[in-house]
Amino acid sequence: MPLYKNQTLKIYNTLSGDKEIFTPIHDGNIGMYVCGPTVYSNVHLGNLRTFMSFDVIFRYFLYLGYKTRYVRNITDAGHLTDDGNIENDRFVKQSRLEKLEPMEVVQKYTVDFHQVLEKFNFLPPTIEPTATGHIIEQIELIEKLIADGFAYETQGSVYFDVFEYNKRGLNYGELSNRNVDELFANTRDLDGQNEKKNSQDFALWKNASPAHIMRWKSPWGEGFPGWHLECTAMSTKYLGERFDIHGGGMDLKFPHHECEVAQGKACNGTTPVNTWMHTNMLTMNGLRMSKSTGNYILPMELISGKNSFFEKKFQPNVVRFCFLQAHYRSVLDISNEAMLASEKGFFRLLEGVKLLENIPSNTTSSFSVADWSQSCHDAMNDDFNTPILIANLFEGIKYVNLINDGNETITAKDLDLFTQTLHSFLFDILGLKNEKDTQHNNEKLEGVVNLLIKMRMEARANKDFAMSDQIRDQLIELGIQLKDGKEGTTFTIQ
Ligand code: AMP
Ligand code: ZN
Repeated sequence: MPLYKNQTLKIYNTLSGDKEIFTPIHDGNIGMYVCGPTVYSNVHLGNLRTFMSFDVIFRYFLYLGYKTRYVRNITDAGHLTDDGNIENDRFVKQSRLEKLEPMEVVQKYTVDFHQVLEKFNFLPPTIEPTATGHIIEQIELIEKLIADGFAYETQGSVYFDVFEYNKRGLNYGELSNRNVDELFANTRDLDGQNEKKNSQDFALWKNASPAHIMRWKSPWGEGFPGWHLECTAMSTKYLGERFDIHGGGMDLKFPHHECEVAQGKACNGTTPVNTWMHTNMLTMNGLRMSKSTGNYILPMELISGKNSFFEKKFQPNVVRFCFLQAHYRSVLDISNEAMLASEKGFFRLLEGVKLLENIPSNTTSSFSVADWSQSCHDAMNDDFNTPILIANLFEGIKYVNLINDGNETITAKDLDLFTQTLHSFLFDILGLKNEKDTQHNNEKLEGVVNLLIKMRMEARANKDFAMSDQIRDQLIELGIQLKDGKEGTTFTIQ
C-alpha cells in the first residue's frame, strides 16, 4: 500500500488563504507546475531557494508514493521588464550586451541553470518545456480568447481584456486579493495613452518592431508571446485544464499568476489550479536578494568562496541545509553567521548518522521509534514544515547518543525503522548528501598540495632545481597542475 494512503497532507493554498487537506484530482497522481527561470542571466541564490523548496516538495510526493508529473518550464522568450515596452525585452537587451544571438544567451544560461541544480543535488523535473517550443499552443489559446471576446487585437498586438473578464463576473484579482475596481480607478488617467483599452489589460502577443529579433509568424503579423500566456499554454498542455498544484516565488503572485488564473478561466471555463503555492523571499544581510539592486550572490560564488559577502566557502549540502532550516513561507536571511551555524548543525547530524551504524541493539526499546518516525512525517504533512522536521531529526540523533552511552535501548527491528526513517528524510526527502568525509578529504588534499608548493619554493630558493622540478612533475603525473603567477603558485586538480 502506498504511504500516502495513511498520511494526511495539508498544504497552504494562497487562493483560499488556508491550510487545506490535500486531495489530488486523480487518486495517486499529482500534477505540479512551477514557473522556471528566465534564462537571460545566471540564477542567483534567491532563485535557487524557490526552486529548492519545490525540489523538496517533489521529493516528498515521490516518497509518499504519488506518481508525480512535475513540470518546470524554461522562460526563453517574452519576459519583458515592462509589459508595454519592447526595448525592455530581457533577452534582446542581454544579447546586445554580450554580443550574442538571443538563442545563445538562452543556451548559455540554461546550461548554467542545470549545472547549478546538479551541484545542489536537485532532481530533474519530469518535463521541462520551453516557451519558444510552444508558440503554436500559445497562438491557439489567443485565437480562442479573441473568438470568445476576452481579448482584442490592436496594431499587431493582442491584449487580454480585464474589464470584459470582470463584466462577466470572473473576478480578476482573486488570487492576489486585489480589488480590481480600485485598480481601474487608480489607473484610469492612463487610459488611451497607449494601445490598450485599459492599463490593466495585459499582453498575450506583442507586435515585433523591425529591431526585435526574437519573432514568430502569427495571424496578427510577426511578433512574440506574452510571458503570462506561456505558462498557461505549457501547464494546460502537460497537466490539463485543471491541475493540482502551481508554484513560484511570491513576487510572481501578481501580475503573473493572477493573469494565469484569468487566462485559464477565460479559455477553459474552469479555474486552472486547485492549490497555489508561493515561496517567500531570500534576503541577504537583511535585504531582499535581487539582481536589480546588486544585493545578490550566485550559488557557485557561495560554494567556491569567491565572493565578498562570506568569510569562507560552504559546500552545497550546507547551503541546502541552511535553506531548509526555514519554512518555505517564511523569509530567510542568510549571513555569514547563519551559514556557519548551519554548517555546524549539519555536520553534527552527519556524525549522528555515522554513529548509528555501530550502535548495539537490545531486547527492548526504551522509547517509541514509531512515534518519533511519525513525528517526522507529521512535520512534512503540515505544509512541508522542514524546520520542525529538522528539529525532530536532531531529537533522533539525541537518542542515538543516549543509546550509544547505554542510557536508552533499541530493538533490532526498531533500529531498522529508525535508520530507514533518518536516511529517508535526510537524504531522499531533504536531498542532502552524506558528504562530510569527502569535504574533509578535499581540504586535507589541498593542505598537502600547498605544503608541497612551499617545499618547491624552498628548493628553488636553494637552487635545488632537480627537487623543484621533481615535485612539479610528480604532481602532474597525479593530475595536479601547478601554475606560477604574480600572486604565487596556484593549482588545479583534474
Ligand atoms: P525569474 O527567473 O526572475 O522568473 O525567477 C525565478 C524564480 O525565483 C521565481 O519563482 C521568483 O519568484 C523566484 N525569486 C526571485 N527572487 C527571489 C528571492 N530573493 N528569494 C526567493 N525566490 C526568488
Ligand atoms: Zn509562470
